[in-house]
Amino acid sequence: MPAYVVGHKVPDSDSICSAIALSYLKTTIGEPTVPARLGELSPETLFILDKFGFEQPELKLSYAGEEVYIVDHSDKIQGPDDLDEATVLGIIDHHKLGDITTSTPLECWIRPVGCTNTIIKMMYDFHGVEIPKDIAGAMMCAILSDTVIFKSPTTTTADIKCVEALAEIAGIEDAQALGMEMFKVKSAVEGTPARDLVLRDFKDFNMNGNTVGIGQLEVIDLSMLDAMKADLEADIAKLKAEGERHTVILLLTDIMKEGSELLVASDDASIVEKAYETSLTDNKVWLDGVLSRKKQVVPPLQDAFA
Ligand code: MG
Ligand code: MG
Ligand code: MG
Repeated sequence: MPAYVVGHKVPDSDSICSAIALSYLKTTIGEPTVPARLGELSPETLFILDKFGFEQPELKLSYAGEEVYIVDHSDKIQGPDDLDEATVLGIIDHHKLGDITTSTPLECWIRPVGCTNTIIKMMYDFHGVEIPKDIAGAMMCAILSDTVIFKSPTTTTADIKCVEALAEIAGIEDAQALGMEMFKVKSAVEGTPARDLVLRDFKDFNMNGNTVGIGQLEVIDLSMLDAMKADLEADIAKLKAEGERHTVILLLTDIMKEGSELLVASDDASIVEKAYETSLTDNKVWLDGVLSRKKQVVPPLQDAFA
């Protein structure tokens, strides 16, 4: 039976391209492994798969009794619901260390870089395995996505060098231009229901026993969202009312202006104000320079909840 590689719920391009890239590497070194996903793909990820000729990984929600590599997360709440009943063979990730634990020894590659695919490139180099052209292209796009074409403060020299190397393998002359093309696809939000946009890149976090959901929409011009903002605000309030989350935040990120507007629905908005040393007006605030959920949004909020 092959092992699986799976990324987080509400899969993004990094989770999907990591699953494809790692399963090829593992299979090549004699460990049959297949990529899987925990949900539907975003237009950006579909663009990447189409561009480099990949099928969508298998939609697989249950892993009980299976062997699995976890990529692009290590928080239980973001992974498969029955992960406790699976054997975790490894974790490859670039986020804060989460709460997934194992009962057997595992392979662990966790680095503070901008993208899981940067780490997977290091794994290919470590094993001396050549990266196929199409996989290199997909990995490169995932890095450009996660690092917001190197604008995100999560970007490291390793990510930039990795994109250069992958572009060469994939035969892509202008990686940043392809990145912009990808973000244009990502920015096409017109006609999409508010709920789909809220959940397009959405993660739950356990903050001192409170569930906090944080979504992010990255667009090349925030004014594209003006007509929908009221609907988005109403929808995060509705999402909070439907579930047991203490707080739901939607980050509207303008990648050209390099900042984010926070829309907030919370049982106690003062925690959010304390976290970002700001005050909300009508449950929203612009935070200049904030592009990264993992580096700039989650840690202060986690501290404010502690
Ligand atoms: Mg991700
Ligand atoms: Mg990632
Ligand atoms: Mg992201």
